[in-house]
Amino acid sequence: MKILVINCGSSSLKYQLLNMDDETLLAKGLCERIGVDGRLKHERGSEEFVTEAPMPDHSAAIKIMLDALLSKEHGVISNINEIKAIGHRVVHGGEFFSDSVLIDDAVEKAIETCFDMAPLHNPPNLTGIRAAKQNMPGIPQVGVFDTAFHQTMPKKAYLYALPYALYDNHKIRKYGFHGTSHKYVSMKAAEALGRPYDKLKIITCHLGNGASICAIENGRSVDTSMGFTPLEGLVMGTRTGDIDAALVPFLMEKEKLSAQQVIDMFNKKSGLLGLSGVSNDFRDILQAKQDGNAHADEALEIYYYRVANYIGRYAAAMNGVDVIVFTAGLGENSALLREKVCAYLGYLGVKVDPEKNAQRGKCMDFSAAGATVRAMMVPTNEELVIARDTKAVVLG
Ligand code: AMP
Repeated sequence: MKILVINCGSSSLKYQLLNMDDETLLAKGLCERIGVDGRLKHERGSEEFVTEAPMPDHSAAIKIMLDALLSKEHGVISNINEIKAIGHRVVHGGEFFSDSVLIDDAVEKAIETCFDMAPLHNPPNLTGIRAAKQNMPGIPQVGVFDTAFHQTMPKKAYLYALPYALYDNHKIRKYGFHGTSHKYVSMKAAEALGRPYDKLKIITCHLGNGASICAIENGRSVDTSMGFTPLEGLVMGTRTGDIDAALVPFLMEKEKLSAQQVIDMFNKKSGLLGLSGVSNDFRDILQAKQDGNAHADEALEIYYYRVANYIGRYAAAMNGVDVIVFTAGLGENSALLREKVCAYLGYLGVKVDPEKNAQRGKCMDFSAAGATVRAMMVPTNEELVIARDTKAVVLG
C-alpha cells in the first residue's frame, strides 16, 4: 500500500512516498520557492534530481511533484492511482482533534478555525490539502495533527492561570506541538528496551531548531513544554522559550516597538541566535565558543540548563522517570549536548557511558552500568508516523 506524505509550508512542500507493506521509503523531495519561481529536489534512493520549474502556487508544485514521481527516469510509480492515500501534516488541531482523521469539509473548516492560533502554519497546511484534492481527486486524504498527541494532558497541565473566561471564550490553553515525534520516539524507545509502553514514564526531548519536551506516562502525553503557540518552553534556535509576559509592554515602550514587532523578536531574533549573536545553528555556536566567543559559551550553557530544568520538572510531574529520550537535529547528533544535559541528572539515576554516547545515527541506550534511569537517543521519523496513521485511518 503506497502512501504519500505531504508537509506544506508557506513557500515549500516536502513529500515522501512510502510503501507501507514494509514501511520502506520509495522517494522523497522538496518543492521550494513556491510563489517566487520554483525549485524541486527529488530523491530516489541515492539518486538525486534537481530542477527549476515555475511554481506560482501549491497546486503547481503538486503537479511538478507528481511529474517527478511518475517520470520514466526518476519515478517510482506508473499511475497516480497507485497512491492509496495521502497523509498531511497539520500543525494545529486545537481541541477538535485528539487523533488523525479522514479529511472532509467539516475537518477543513476546523483547520480553518485554528488559523488564528497558528497563522504561519495552518493556512499553508490547508492550501496543501486543497491543492492535493484538486490534483489527486478521489484519493483519501488524512490530517495528522502536531497537537493531537497532547490532547491527553490533564487540565492542571494545560490551563494557564488566566481569567477562566478566556479559556471558555477563546480556547486559550497549552496545546503543545511535535506530537508525532514525541509519540514515535517514545514508542520506539519502549520497543528497543523490550518494555511495555503503557507502563513506562518517559521524557522525550525533541531538540531541533524548534524544541520541546514531553512527559509521557503510560503511553499518554501528560505535559509538554510548548504552549498556545510553539514559542513557549525551551530555548530554541531563534525563539525565547519561557519568558515573563510583562516584557511585552516594557519592550514596546522602551524600544518603541509594536506588539507584533516584539513577538517577531521573540520568535525570530532570540533563542540561541539572540544570546550568541552568532547564529541559530548549534554547530556555528560551538565553533564560535571554540574561537573564544563568551556569548556563544553562555548561550550553550543556558540551553543545556533549560533542558535539564524541564526534565526535572517532568520527573516531578510523573513522580519519577524510567527513560529519557533525545531526538531531532541536536538530540540525535550532538553527543556533547546529551552529555551536558545528563550531567545535571545524576540525582535521578542517569549515568552516561561516553563511548556509547559517541555513536550516531541509530537508536541506542547510552546509559552506563549502574544507571537506574535509561538515557537514549532515538532518531525521529515524523513522516513514518503520518504514513502509519494515514494507513490506519484509511483501513478503518
Ligand atoms: P532540526 O531542526 O531537527 O533539523 O535540527 C537543527 C539543529 O540541529 C541545528 O541547530 C543544527 O546545528 C543541529 N545539528 C545538526 N547536526 C548536528 C551535528 N552533527 N552536531 C551538532 N548539532 C547538529
